[in-house]
Amino acid sequence: MDRNFDIIIIGGGVVGCAIAREFSRYRINAVLLEKECDVAFGTSGRNSGVAHAGFYMVPGTLKAKTNIEGHRILPGVCRELDVPYEEIGKLVVAKGEDGIPYLEKLKRQGEENGTRELEIIDEERIKELEPGIQGIHALYSPTSAILCPFTLTIALAENALENGMKFSLNTEVKGIQDSNGTFIVNTNNGEFTSDFVVNSAGLYADTISEMVGISTYKIYPCRGEYHILDRSKSDLINHLIYPVPPKDSGGLGVHLTPTVHGNIMLGPSAEYIGDVNDTGNSAEVMATLFREAKELLPEIGRRDFIRSFAGIRAKLISSGSEKPADFIIKEEFDGFINLVGIESPGLTAAPAIASIVVDIVKKKKDLELDSKFNPRRKGIVKFNELPADKQAELIRKNPNYGRVICRCETITQQEVIDALDNPLGAISLNSIKNRCRAGMGRCQGGFCTPKIVEIMEEVFSPEVKDITLKGDGSGLFTGRVKDNPK
Ligand SMILES: Cc1cc2nc3c(=O)[nH]c(=O)nc-3n(C[C@H](O)[C@H](O)[C@H](O)COP(=O)(O)OP(=O)(O)OC[C@H]3O[C@@H](n4cnc5c(N)ncnc54)[C@H](O)[C@@H]3O)c2cc1C
Repeated sequence: MDRNFDIIIIGGGVVGCAIAREFSRYRINAVLLEKECDVAFGTSGRNSGVAHAGFYMVPGTLKAKTNIEGHRILPGVCRELDVPYEEIGKLVVAKGEDGIPYLEKLKRQGEENGTRELEIIDEERIKELEPGIQGIHALYSPTSAILCPFTLTIALAENALENGMKFSLNTEVKGIQDSNGTFIVNTNNGEFTSDFVVNSAGLYADTISEMVGISTYKIYPCRGEYHILDRSKSDLINHLIYPVPPKDSGGLGVHLTPTVHGNIMLGPSAEYIGDVNDTGNSAEVMATLFREAKELLPEIGRRDFIRSFAGIRAKLISSGSEKPADFIIKEEFDGFINLVGIESPGLTAAPAIASIVVDIVKKKKDLELDSKFNPRRKGIVKFNELPADKQAELIRKNPNYGRVICRCETITQQEVIDALDNPLGAISLNSIKNRCRAGMGRCQGGFCTPKIVEIMEEVFSPEVKDITLKGDGSGLFTGRVKDNPK
């Protein structure tokens, strides 16, 4: 790979990948550097997956502006990129009269921001929309939506790649020097140079800023833990269900979030922690989550949980701060564009943030549209979503569709092969899981992991000891103890 670029983007989260796709509309030489072995391994793969309608954000802020714009354009982006997006609507539920001022504040705020169709509804209407939910009033937002956050991130990256953007995975930025207007970016993978650097390193955006001498930002990691419910419980709710959050909770309160794949997530909690990498779960928070979620939806039982996970908010304010911080999106000095504090609604806002970044560059550099830009990307065929006659036809044409590898999610051998054969060349068990959902069901990979490993050996023949969960340092095997029967 030639190492001299017009633009270097640091970070393969949803924001970096949206920026990469936006730049790929132009005839420009750009690269995205990501320290992990795949995109979406940071916060972008660890969130609620909600396209917020924009009523939580303080009017006039960049958060509000990019939220509203992102929410407006996301459905089209998802259609172009074959990413599931469902406008299921949201209820913010007040259990007592004391919650009503909060609902009214959200409605006022939303209307000022430009959120459409907000309505405060009564108990009877709540029961009509959500028979299992208890509350006396709710803010109803029919345009709030859900999407798959890792599919969106992967799809943005794949589409950018197809349109000429370069990606260098397993590439960690260690230092940046400004040499007479050219940036020299040092990584574990050698040196890269560019005229512009975009810092979209999420939880590490302050560390990257420090590399160019900017020490004004500090990220305060705030962990949000979740439980995931088995798909057998998908009928319990039809909408996103949020509570009136406890005062000073630092988040939106423990909510019930249906996913586009038919699970319901409970969470997230909000807890300031010391380590940006600590995505572990704690027994206390898990118990509190369960209790709070059960208050909203009494039918939930502990046996319904299939997995827990956590994501970390990149907050620019410490615990107890009164005022929320806004997104930082700006050119700090000639050619260095900083994105810091991109916490929620960063997933929703990503396409709008990308446009702002491209506009900043356009002021300095002529960008010529690439007439060959193709906005469309096709994802892997989802066998389990096809009607029976189409499934039979696929199996006739390709017997790999007739072998189910992940029984819980009905994922076939061909889908696993397609996931392995991904355009970015990302090879790890989590890369496969994020692309085709093998291992995401009730048994959490207990049944399909050995079969996926077999396919990796057979089709792509890496040494079994080189197969990892999520890249370097996460090896799963020390080697074979007996010959592969195949
Ligand atoms: C619990 C929780 C729930 C949320 N729910 C929602 C929601 O429902 N809706 C919504 O709109 N938003 C939500 N968000 C916010 C949203 O997830 C984030 O705003 C968004 O994912 C941030 O994306 P990013 O690309 O900035 O960061 P990331 O996804 O963290 O990406 C940054 C990337 O930079 C890489 N990187 C870091 N340092 C280096 C380096 N030195 N060299 C190379 N690469 C590097 C990292 O590996 C990472 O891949 C939620 C966040 C959390 C924590």
